Amino acid sequence: MFSSVLIANRGEIACRIARTAKRLGLRTIAVYSEADAGALHVRLCDEAHGIGAPPARESYLVIERLIEVALRARADCVHPGYGFLSENAEFAEACARAGVTFVGPPPTAIRAMGLKDRAKALMQKAGVPVVPGYHGERQQPAFLKEKAYEIGYPVLIKAVAGGGGKGMRRVSKHAEFDDALEAAQREAQNAFGDARVLIEKYVTAPRHIEMQVFADTHGNAIHLNERDCSLQRRHQKVIEEAPAPGMPPELRAAMGAAAVQAAKAVGYAGAGTVEFIADGAKGLRLDGFWFMEMNTRLQVEHPVTEAITGLDLVEWQFRVAAGEKLPLTQDQVALAGHAVEARIYAEDPERGFLPSTGRLVALDLPAGEGIRVDTGVEPGSEITPYYDPMIAKVIAHAPTRSAALDLLAAALERTVAAGPRTNVAFLAKLCRADGFRAGDFDTGFIERNAAALGATPQGLDQGAAALGAARLLAQDTARIAQRLDGAPDEPPSPWDATDGFQLSGSRSVEFPILVDGEAVRAQARFGPIGPNVTVDGITPDASARAIETVDAIYVLRHGRQTTVRRADTSIGALDHGGSDGRITAPMHGRLLALLVQKGDKVEKGQRVAVIEAMKMEHALTAQRAGIVTDVTAAAGSQVAEGAKLLTIEPLA
Ligand code: ADP
Repeated sequence: MFSSVLIANRGEIACRIARTAKRLGLRTIAVYSEADAGALHVRLCDEAHGIGAPPARESYLVIERLIEVALRARADCVHPGYGFLSENAEFAEACARAGVTFVGPPPTAIRAMGLKDRAKALMQKAGVPVVPGYHGERQQPAFLKEKAYEIGYPVLIKAVAGGGGKGMRRVSKHAEFDDALEAAQREAQNAFGDARVLIEKYVTAPRHIEMQVFADTHGNAIHLNERDCSLQRRHQKVIEEAPAPGMPPELRAAMGAAAVQAAKAVGYAGAGTVEFIADGAKGLRLDGFWFMEMNTRLQVEHPVTEAITGLDLVEWQFRVAAGEKLPLTQDQVALAGHAVEARIYAEDPERGFLPSTGRLVALDLPAGEGIRVDTGVEPGSEITPYYDPMIAKVIAHAPTRSAALDLLAAALERTVAAGPRTNVAFLAKLCRADGFRAGDFDTGFIERNAAALGATPQGLDQGAAALGAARLLAQDTARIAQRLDGAPDEPPSPWDATDGFQLSGSRSVEFPILVDGEAVRAQARFGPIGPNVTVDGITPDASARAIETVDAIYVLRHGRQTTVRRADTSIGALDHGGSDGRITAPMHGRLLALLVQKGDKVEKGQRVAVIEAMKMEHALTAQRAGIVTDVTAAAGSQVAEGAKLLTIEPLA
């Protein structure tokens, strides 16, 4: 066994790897970017080394710098985690050249599975069923369109270098093919530097079922059962579970055998995941599953497999990398109970799950019997735009699926995360959703049930806003009382703009607040026992939780966050794009495309710009019809959250 490991990653997975490494007695070596100098993974490891600026391209993805640290810190091995360089064959080779063991498969296996088109061709040859479609070399748009027609709509366009659902577009009609192809290629070029795509038949009622495999360097390969990751949004996993609901044992055996065959076909070693798409239209069947791709690394959702098998997959990774044999044979692998994982993200379900950045002003993660939490942040941590905005993974393990879902839902319901917007309430609702509980779901479940799950704009929560306004007023009253002590001629309150504002008496005043950036007016009636604050006549919900910071009150009500700030009347209305025709950047990112020019006439709802953030594209649409009067940002440039991009004046 090794005596030290360099963990070439950050966040929850770096912490998770460090935990096992420490248990095995390894000295743990962390790396960090400037944005992560105070991060949890840095403190959890025995030593830590700075590797550069916040953008991953200048730190976590710089192979030479990681190798330099590995040598300087005399690391025996490098664990890449997931993401970043985990599936980068050059990194694996660089480690080998430096005499440091790469905890992962051989570079040849990474390469063989790295591109979806080649992997599919290889699997087809090895006799593993693959999704029908075109995965050849030709990339001319007209040719691809013809292929799509032959395959039959709906089809799925996928980036051959794809991952994380990027560069993927579903097309349901021939007429929509050209636009979808262009978008997929652009996203692929941006995310992977490779615009090539393949075309697949879109499986109806698709279920994403994947097999965890493990192989050693002595020719042994087994599977550790399946995971069902069908609950997705934008092709990204949201909830994962093991085993898959409704999985017939003979299908598990067949899928497991196909996965092991896939691993053997590429000379695999270590942990890997073979992803299949299954047609769930009439229940899972032996002739209804196809190979999608193989991920040659540890997966985010590996804890559900650990829960039902009682194994530590990171320990197995170290053992295999150290040349040991697999500790179990296929028939010794357990499958006990049911485990479900939910990924808590800093994102806004009401705004298309747009990543949300900022400081975690409050964070209280669940604990208890049957609950596991993997996280890399803590209260006060900053969720930056540089990396994946995951806050934590919560995993529940219980004897049955329904007990595990209850346990997880309850754990999510007592989770507190404030500052950035989060998907916590959405996840809790998912765990309680009838169709999902009944096992009646596919990858389109979330989209079909978006409204019931609260993933559509919910509008102003007056009870929460009133609570926030009351807290702001109380802060202000305290501040004025303090000021009056020392400087009696200070003006009364700001909001100072509120004409005739006074602290006592029975007058009623209106004062401006910003609720999630929107201007709202609150009312306060001053009675003998203090102010009675309302918003639209609704009083504060005292059962909601309010977290106070210097510049805002974060109110959590039924898991939903409402942020209330003092409206600074001297700055004028705060702008978040929309009603006045200004289009602003909803978040930090890169302006990929400006789809209009000054002087263009636009329709309401027309796409006017495309922003890329966290490697995903977000289209910005015109909130009203009109003429583009000024364009203040250039395509290709970085834009800050709230930056004005262009203005649309209504037609006279
Ligand atoms: P990525 O590598 O970007 O994650 P995958 O090939 O793993 O891409 O696919 C991601 C998700 O897209 C799958 O989990 C599944 O939900 C959906 N998907 C992929 N291929 C198909 C298909 N042929 N038909 C229907 N859905 C698909």
